[in-house]
Amino acid sequence: MSSTSSSAFLLTPLTSCIISLPTNTAFPTIDEVIMALDTITHIVLFKYRSDITWSDLEDHFKYFMSLKTRSLHPRTALPLIKSLRAGKNTSWEPFSKGMTHAFILEFASQDDLDYYLTAEPVHLQFSKDAKPLIEDSLVVDIRDGMLFGAKAEHPLLKGEEGLWRGSCHCETVRWTARLESAEHVLCHCATCQKLGGGPYSCNQIISKDELDIVFGNENVGEYKYKGASGKFVHCFFCKTCTSHIYHHQDVMPEKVIVRTLLLDGGDKMPATGEIFAEGKLNWVKELRDNLHSDN
Ligand SMILES: [Zn+2]
Ligand SMILES: [Zn+2]
Repeated sequence: MSSTSSSAFLLTPLTSCIISLPTNTAFPTIDEVIMALDTITHIVLFKYRSDITWSDLEDHFKYFMSLKTRSLHPRTALPLIKSLRAGKNTSWEPFSKGMTHAFILEFASQDDLDYYLTAEPVHLQFSKDAKPLIEDSLVVDIRDGMLFGAKAEHPLLKGEEGLWRGSCHCETVRWTARLESAEHVLCHCATCQKLGGGPYSCNQIISKDELDIVFGNENVGEYKYKGASGKFVHCFFCKTCTSHIYHHQDVMPEKVIVRTLLLDGGDKMPATGEIFAEGKLNWVKELRDNLHSDN
């Protein structure tokens, strides 16, 4: 009787989902059942800074609520958020941990939620603007009736089909880059040392089409210099925080050089190669021993 396998992570899932399905059909279709199972509720609690004004709070609220119509699916252009409820905590119980307001959002799938959290431009702008108002927050995601099972995988570490997301230090500019393999090629050239202020840069050369600036393109500045070939090298950086995002060389117009350490999860990638090794600083030489290690 108690032999339920630990992999059976759904507890009473079908009954609870079927009950919540539209009642216009006697029996839900398989698609409807799957859709109900996929629905994910994203619960956000905020504690605001004590010095924010009423009008700041009101504007912030309106802004959040407007995401319901303005935050759109990248392919269908339909709203990403299926439902959005929000309000102030009215509980007399002393268990709010200082959180004063709650926002309850529903998404049709984890993919929709992942996109909303990591790439959807209207929501990303909202998050950035809201940051100074918020002292603390609490976020949980649930699937109705699901009591066991693993956490969702961090979308930026999925490396799905080699797609990686990156951002500059101030997060004004965000992009995606498709890498054939998740690894760094170190460049020890004098220009990288000068531009980056470090002993080397971490890069990969990819096709121009595989880089997509998804947010903050208007904040990307360009610095141009003549490379060793006599042709121009264009360095693109965030105008606010100066993070170098990618370089484009006239000598190879179809390619770009992306800074792999600026990709989320880049700190987990191994370094597997190097160029301009002759420019390597003496004290960096011991790094060679680690180049082909597994870490
Ligand atoms: Zn920046
Ligand atoms: Zn270099």
